[in-house]
Amino acid sequence: MSQPGLYIHIPFCKSKCRYCAFYSVTGCLSRTEEFLAALRQEMALSSDWTAAFDTLYIGGGTPSVLSPAQLTRMIADARRSFSIEGEAEITVEANPADITTDLLKGLLQSGVNRISMGVQSFNDALLRFLGRRHRGMQAEESVRLAQKRGFDNISLDLIYGIPGQNRKVWEDTLRRAVSLHPSHLSCYQLTVEKGTPLHQEAAQGRVLLPDENSQAEFFFFTSEFLQKEGYLHYEVSNFALPGHESRHNRKYWDHTCYLGLGPSAHSFRAHQRHWNISSVDGYSNALTTGHLPVEGKETLNQENLRMESLFLGFRTRAGICLQDYNLRFGGDLLKEKKGAIDHLVRGGFLEIKDGFLKPAIKGMAIADSLALL
Ligand code: SF4
Repeated sequence: MSQPGLYIHIPFCKSKCRYCAFYSVTGCLSRTEEFLAALRQEMALSSDWTAAFDTLYIGGGTPSVLSPAQLTRMIADARRSFSIEGEAEITVEANPADITTDLLKGLLQSGVNRISMGVQSFNDALLRFLGRRHRGMQAEESVRLAQKRGFDNISLDLIYGIPGQNRKVWEDTLRRAVSLHPSHLSCYQLTVEKGTPLHQEAAQGRVLLPDENSQAEFFFFTSEFLQKEGYLHYEVSNFALPGHESRHNRKYWDHTCYLGLGPSAHSFRAHQRHWNISSVDGYSNALTTGHLPVEGKETLNQENLRMESLFLGFRTRAGICLQDYNLRFGGDLLKEKKGAIDHLVRGGFLEIKDGFLKPAIKGMAIADSLALL
């Protein structure tokens, strides 16, 4: 059985990016100590998670808005509250604008061995459009500084499909990214989420988004470009040098247990998923009165789990292990869905290889629809 992962959500940002739907608040940095005290309480109330975690992922929000001392203390609190393996993958998300020698030193001393940097683009006009507070050159300098200080496992987040971004501009960002030799790249298609300024502007016709065909072109171009540079396209949006796939994110894709702490964080264990209150106030108030800040929960039945494992499995290049799937859900997937699977194999969307039902790159582009086979 795989070991669980631990996620901590830092709900603070210095400014809000116009496309972002993650829970975070701005203008509240004076409340970080109050939040960290509540987080400590949540850790104490989660002591029933006794199995050793082999990943810790600190995301948000923007974890790098915390001071190096606060981050160090928070990680020490997590180590005191839970069993975290010596060889655990420990990732911290950082904004390139926050990278300093002091921050890097603090992270290294706390055992952080992976940085995920929210670069998004190296093009300054697009960074301004997205509402990011760093610039392209600053991102390059931050990656180099992190490497110089000893981080050799760095992931860069990039976004394609931004209004005004043509193939050439995207290719330039990819080239600048690979010239920094990151071990991992997450390339996301810009999505317009309800409640964001971008959604409002798109609805009012003030922003024109690329159509589906252009998005598909970006997807295939990215896949081909990065594979030529030696990166494995191992999940719809994720690329890694061999051996550098994100161990933490894999847990979300294969139904491994994970504990999420902090406002809006999700947890999954024993077929149950629960999620925390998406409010710093609500979160702190619940913990101050000795309660876990859980907002909702759901129990997944076998059919929910089966659909999710198809949905998540088709997002990964490794695909679905037929033996595991059949053992877990009963029956024989290849026999039961023979017609649909044969059709998708003939169309070049799926392949059956070494006991796995795998999406081809063409299949990963429509991964969500494949799950409905
Ligand atoms: S920094 Fe990240 S979490 Fe914060 S608003 Fe921007 S995209 Fe969202």
